[in-house]
Amino acid sequence: MELAYCRIVLKIAEQDMATIQHNVSYPFSMNQIRTAAAGDERQCAALLAILFAQEKEFLPDAEAQARGLAAIIGNPELGRIFVFESGGLIRGMVMLLFTVSTWLGKKVALLEDMIVAPEWREKGVGSALVDHAIEYAKTEDFGRITLLTDSDNQSAQRFYLSKGFSRSEMVVFRKLLDTSDLAAIKEHDADPWMCRECGWLYDPAEGDQESRVKAGTPFRLLPSDWSCPVCFAGKAFFDLLP
Ligand SMILES: [Zn+2]
Repeated sequence: MELAYCRIVLKIAEQDMATIQHNVSYPFSMNQIRTAAAGDERQCAALLAILFAQEKEFLPDAEAQARGLAAIIGNPELGRIFVFESGGLIRGMVMLLFTVSTWLGKKVALLEDMIVAPEWREKGVGSALVDHAIEYAKTEDFGRITLLTDSDNQSAQRFYLSKGFSRSEMVVFRKLLDTSDLAAIKEHDADPWMCRECGWLYDPAEGDQESRVKAGTPFRLLPSDWSCPVCFAGKAFFDLLP
């Protein structure tokens, strides 16, 4: 399987913080961001379904996501999930998972699962969530935040660069330890996905000649910036056909 991620690191230093502490005015209140609590798992899992549909390599699995979220919410020593709420609904989230750097001799965090509901994008919600997470990590004396983003997702990379992160020269390696997890990931590789906006079908057997996507390419391996050839909706707007 190809390595579709690059690693991005934020060393939390005073000069970095200057870049996030300018007075930004958002069309919402920072009070709409809070730490996730028990009972938020289902709504967060629904948001992750959007993220995993649009990211390369992943596919959503609501039960697995709710299980993972509950493990973090129920064990605060593992990490924190921050959510953006509007009208009683969670419309965005980001997560910090905690670990330790022997190099820094300090707690460090992995930033994961950053997602904003499509109708709340371009309003600064993602920016506010990341600022909130960085502020939390700084206050709690973490030494570094590391994150992974799709290697072909230029807009995400620009976003994190603007937040003071820099691209690492490290390459990501990983090994799935349960072969059934890999089987589950590949289970739907031959299945078509339908665009919610216009009804167009992506059929892996055909690929998408217009975007130079070869026949035999599963939906999960489409580039993160790939879009519907008919209506230009992004991957997040596609559903797996049952
Ligand atoms: Zn479409």
